[in-house]
Amino acid sequence: MDKEIFRRHGHELVDWIADYFENVESFPVMSRVKPGEIRSRIPSVPPESPEAMDRIFEDFKTVILPGITHWQHPNWHAYFPANNSPESVLGELLTAGLGVQGMVWQTSPAAAELEDAVLEWMRRLLGLPEGLAGVIQDTASTATLCALLSARERATDFQSNERGLKKPLIVYASEEAHSSVEKGVKIAGFGRENLRLIPSGPDFAMLPGQLEEAILRDKAAGLEPCCAVATLGTTSSGAVDPLPEIGPIARRHGLWLHVDAAYAGSAALLPEKRWILDGAEHIDSLVFNPHKWLLTNFDCSLYFVKDPGSLVRTFEIHPEYLKTGADPYVKNYRDWGIQLGRRFRALKLWFVVRSYGAEGLRAFVREHIRLAQLFKGWVAADPRFEVMAPAHFGLVCFRLNDGRGEAELAALNKALMDRLNATGRAYFTHTVLHGKFTLRMVIGQRTTRERHVRAAWALIQETAAGLEVKPSA
Ligand code: PLP
Repeated sequence: MDKEIFRRHGHELVDWIADYFENVESFPVMSRVKPGEIRSRIPSVPPESPEAMDRIFEDFKTVILPGITHWQHPNWHAYFPANNSPESVLGELLTAGLGVQGMVWQTSPAAAELEDAVLEWMRRLLGLPEGLAGVIQDTASTATLCALLSARERATDFQSNERGLKKPLIVYASEEAHSSVEKGVKIAGFGRENLRLIPSGPDFAMLPGQLEEAILRDKAAGLEPCCAVATLGTTSSGAVDPLPEIGPIARRHGLWLHVDAAYAGSAALLPEKRWILDGAEHIDSLVFNPHKWLLTNFDCSLYFVKDPGSLVRTFEIHPEYLKTGADPYVKNYRDWGIQLGRRFRALKLWFVVRSYGAEGLRAFVREHIRLAQLFKGWVAADPRFEVMAPAHFGLVCFRLNDGRGEAELAALNKALMDRLNATGRAYFTHTVLHGKFTLRMVIGQRTTRERHVRAAWALIQETAAGLEVKPSA
């Protein structure tokens, strides 16, 4: 493609994206295609001769777009957000244009040094302890796996990479922890049976007393406790495991303490939410995803460690072809994680932080929390509904409850969710909290305003009316 044609198509695509940002609300939030529908429209053999970009772009609009679920829709209330912003998209565009592969410092000093600088900015913005060093990973799942592997190495005097695990090591996390902990435990060689899921209390936060009891039980049985994972903002309900109590327990028993703040880390930008990090002086590592709630398009996951030495000793590898003269003086991020090749993700985060400023980022997150509180108030005031969990962030858990049995309530609330999603006007997902089927209202999109939240609540009320639910006695 020559320069002028690239320029023409580039402008066309940027125009399309700018319009998409503006018009995204006109699409059904959840794609309506049936399984296999998109696949059936894609030829089974690749083209033999070159195709024109106009044609490819036309097919993008007619074949691909109908199969897109619109994560950037203001009525995206499912899972957690994965919001983006024009600023991050521009940063991403430059990353693609530069085509940098930042495996070692020398392969782009600016990529390595900007990453170092931006992570230090983020550490300060979140109020994390001084001295924590950061690295960008693709996802929280990868960061948690890195934490588990580092914990495993440290617990075995850095011998398990070399010799394999000689005896079981035990990992502890709340029963509400994200499934990435279980996945990490399995693939890091701990064995699923060596993961202890600690019960949570009525607020769905880990019960620290139960954590210590489990550790003591394992020790008495001759097993070796290795790592505890605390979650700040659980996936199901946004619960906050109490670090001030978990931290000293982990320290007393010599455990690596990993903190999963993948979603709720953004809230630590706010002075009024800083309490979630009380006890952070005890942590060994923490993961936080700007790609969830902080305007930075997927993927961008920040992993902070207290002792980068443990991380590097776990992951470093020095084949001749990767050695450079700069090695003694620089950070080679290839040794800070699993993959060798690394995308230049710091650029988009730099664009976002600079263009919003700390003030703008705080205002953004604070507004979502305000809207969530507003929504929670409406739910609490409607006798057909109940709020199911504390709402610390941009997530409100709720359900219809007219007093029928649990199984019937689950069916009723699932019917409500399915009907809501079928309208295309909003998208909700569910969870189960202490055995109860629960709907989740997530507010975290860049373009979500109070009018969208009001419209979503009106839609929920109207849909519930169609289900003929009586107010609970
Ligand atoms: N931890 C928590 C609390 C999450 O909610 C999620 C995903 O929603 C993850 C970890 C996994 O995130 P990722 O997709 O970045 O691996």
